[in-house]
Amino acid sequence: MNNLIIKDYTEIVQRKQFNLTQHVTLENFNSLISLIRLPKNEENLTKCQIHKKQNTCNHHFMHGYLVSTKDNTEAIIGGTCGNQYFHLDETFSIQRDLCTKPAKTY
Ligand SMILES: [Zn+2]
Repeated sequence: MNNLIIKDYTEIVQRKQFNLTQHVTLENFNSLISLIRLPKNEENLTKCQIHKKQNTCNHHFMHGYLVSTKDNTEAIIGGTCGNQYFHLDETFSIQRDLCTKPAKTY
């Protein structure tokens, strides 16, 4: 787990495990890898890969998350959508908070 923030869409597509057609569901979610914060001009490149009720979300976003699924594939999901869809998922919430809050010093 690192606190990487992805700020460029090419960083996503260059990742070896990234798969544009992967579906993300509550069942196959493994972990949150990093935050995505893209500039406005890259918004239309992204497609939210959350899959619910037989449909993939596919909406464009600037702020979202890079996640991994249980088959070791990576996918991207929109921020608002991800927060809603995973709001009861403890792993997601804990990892999101680790990414978004400054690291604690002990
Ligand atoms: Zn979505």
